[in-house]
Amino acid sequence: MKLPHHVIVKAPGLLPMLYKASELADEIQIPERTLRDWLEAGAPFQRDSSNRIWVNGQEFKQWVQEKRKPKRTFKLLDNQAYCLHCKTAVELLNPERHAIKGKLVNIKGVCPQCGCTINRGGVDGTVN
Ligand SMILES: [Zn+2]
Repeated sequence: MKLPHHVIVKAPGLLPMLYKASELADEIQIPERTLRDWLEAGAPFQRDSSNRIWVNGQEFKQWVQEKRKPKRTFKLLDNQAYCLHCKTAVELLNPERHAIKGKLVNIKGVCPQCGCTINRGGVDGTVN
């Protein structure tokens, strides 16, 4: 999910108060439907005893800031792969490259930590 630029600009102006979904949507100029999607996707909100949705401006602002943080991407080297078992990037033992199609290759190797066989896709000639 990508936040529209104007939301990122407007969010810091939100007050530490409870907004109705419709008010907040107005405030940051998005359709209420979109706001409700965000709430479902993890934006902070609370419900009162009548099941009405309220969003704390301060919390929403923090959520927007969280979303803005660039995702941490790690580049794998040619002989590295992500081991699903160890949940970390590992250096493959005995990596073998097999051409699949065009420049696509499959790199097959063994996880040095758990001994699992790992297959990863790659593009020949680049570290991707
Ligand atoms: Zn492993």
